Amino acid sequence: MRKPLIAGNWKMHKTINEAIDLVNGIKRELLDFESADIAVCPAFTALSSVWEVLINTNIKLGAQNLYWEAKGAFTGEISCDMLKDCGCYYVIIGHSERRKYFHETDETVNKRIKAALASGLFPIVCVGETLEEREGEKTISVVKNQLQGAFNGFSNEEVDKIVIAYEPVWAIGTGKTATPQQAGEVHAFIRGWVRENFSDAGAGSIRILYGGSVKPSNIKELMNEADIDGALVGGACLDADSFVSIVTNSI
Ligand code: PEP
Repeated sequence: MRKPLIAGNWKMHKTINEAIDLVNGIKRELLDFESADIAVCPAFTALSSVWEVLINTNIKLGAQNLYWEAKGAFTGEISCDMLKDCGCYYVIIGHSERRKYFHETDETVNKRIKAALASGLFPIVCVGETLEEREGEKTISVVKNQLQGAFNGFSNEEVDKIVIAYEPVWAIGTGKTATPQQAGEVHAFIRGWVRENFSDAGAGSIRILYGGSVKPSNIKELMNEADIDGALVGGACLDADSFVSIVTNSI
């Protein structure tokens, strides 16, 4: 039985004080909530302050990116140890905005996952097609290529520590959600791909989140799909009430 995971990607929003307010609002309502795993992923600047609010709670901290080298002359980058130092447990890797605006590739996604796993961080790896790719009926081949690139060289034990987020690019921040059936089909493909390339047990236990305009009003029907194990939430996680409702409606 896979425990649902609801993770909030705060993107480039919230100053430190705003982040503290938001996480306090979430903590107030979800402190005793055990039916789903919960994570918040603030901007780098707010990680430490949010961690101070979350220490010894059921809510995990995640970062939105990392750099694979351990240290050195890499101006502007953040290492795994730095993230762990701030209290991070999860790290989002390969978000479509990173791929689109910052030219991340499947190869650099792979390096990031490798570094995260080696340091003990749990990666949330994003894959998903653009609207053009969906309309060209390339969804499955695009997702398959992204998975092959991202998971290249990993063992079954490593794959067990990874969370996958299927995020159709056309549904991110657009208000357009994939239908449960559209999402369910891709999730089933992803689970089958893990089974074929790794193991039955790994396919059974890996969590595959859906991301793309998830709201309190649509999480339930998405979660009814057998292969959807939770959500990576963008816009709707920036308000405590809305994020809390997504979490409570997810089970
Ligand atoms: C995201 O950025 O991962 C995301 C899913 O955003 P939104 O929920 O706003 O579509």
